[in-house]
Amino acid sequence: MDNVQSLETKYPQVKDLKNETPIFWKNPDYGQDADLPFTKQDILDAVDLWKRFAPYIEEAFPETASMHGIIESPLIRLDKMKQAWDGEHETPLAGSLYLKADSELPISGSIKSRGGIYEVLKFAEHVAMTEGNLKLTDNHAILGTPEYKHLFAQYGVMVASTGNLALSVGIAASTFGFKTTVYMSRDAKEWKKAKLRANGVNVVELDTDFSSVIPQAREAAAKDPKIHFIDDEGSSDLFIGYAVAGVRLQQQFQIQGIKVDRDHPVIVYLPAGVGGSPSGVTFGLKMMMGPYIHAIFCEPTHVPSVTLGMMTKLNNKISVFDIGLDGKTAADGLAVGRPSRIAGKIMRTLLFGSVTFDDPTIYKYVAQLMDTENITVEPSAAAGFTAIERAITEVPAFNTANATHIVWATGGSMMPESERKVDHDKGEALL
Ligand SMILES: *Cc1c(COP(=O)(O)O)cnc(C)c1O
Repeated sequence: MDNVQSLETKYPQVKDLKNETPIFWKNPDYGQDADLPFTKQDILDAVDLWKRFAPYIEEAFPETASMHGIIESPLIRLDKMKQAWDGEHETPLAGSLYLKADSELPISGSIKSRGGIYEVLKFAEHVAMTEGNLKLTDNHAILGTPEYKHLFAQYGVMVASTGNLALSVGIAASTFGFKTTVYMSRDAKEWKKAKLRANGVNVVELDTDFSSVIPQAREAAAKDPKIHFIDDEGSSDLFIGYAVAGVRLQQQFQIQGIKVDRDHPVIVYLPAGVGGSPSGVTFGLKMMMGPYIHAIFCEPTHVPSVTLGMMTKLNNKISVFDIGLDGKTAADGLAVGRPSRIAGKIMRTLLFGSVTFDDPTIYKYVAQLMDTENITVEPSAAAGFTAIERAITEVPAFNTANATHIVWATGGSMMPESERKVDHDKGEALL
């Protein structure tokens, strides 16, 4: 590609991306006015849909009973982890440190329980209202009755996933009774495939890079009008499902006394794969809480797909392979070489910036989080910690006593014990 040269001239940091040098990219368009394709009302409508389904979810997934069928994760203050962090970095963290523990979300143990399940609920409600007798005001628990299961069995749900989206969509859709198929690349985690099969999900393994798994799944789904394809590269429903996090985090801030205003900046660190989940969450945070909550995306140096797309403004028109990267990372939730069709566009004015990290550092934080706070996350989910140092040194306004730093832990509570230990030991060796 001869235009890589011209991209490097226009955007000098493309060269660092090409050389796998960790970078801090500050988004030059941050805070400008923009026409956005979604509104705050779309998020509030999604909150209502989750509420309609709460009685169904409470019955179908008993682990959600304590939350009355609402799927949400805790916001955990990390005082011990902050102490450890301060002990090993030159610049201490002046503000407070929290973990948004989506790693503990029910059903998939990951952030995918937001978008993936939301899209399945929306499809189920649509089918039940158009082909069955469901009304919006009905108690949606009736969707668990044999009559509706029979109806749903005539429809299908398909998705392509590196792992966690398959878990959330697969388990939710098969519980409703939909014929459910997930496409995964062969290197996806064995325990995830086993869990899906145990739930009656048809798991199709493909021997290709993940970027080509999605088109194959999309093509398979297009053959049957009764199959709903959940498109990780551009679904609006997934996006809005993630955005509901903005409403929930705002409530948690109120309960836990966390302020967001000019003197109390909040910085949120989100790992990005295809960019859908961090963008949806960021959209929700900005719509609900405004200009003083700032999002920073975190990506592996080998797979900076969203950063490359946004930096060059080419978004999904460029992949990390185009600049010669191999797209390989141990953070399997982030191993996506080409970004979403919608994420970068919507983030143009909403994302503060992004940081890229060398793979091994995430294992260090996985181990540290276990050792100091007894919290397990998967490697991808520790990516946020890698961005803090760059953020507070490059943006001094972020390193004040009144600042709140939130690392979004995107997954991990369902990992088998054996795998936890392997990840922990890898990190321990680096501490
Ligand atoms: C999916 C996922 C991400 C990234 O989400 P994208 O929508 O692909 O950007 C990060 N961490 C974990 C654990 C995930 O499962």
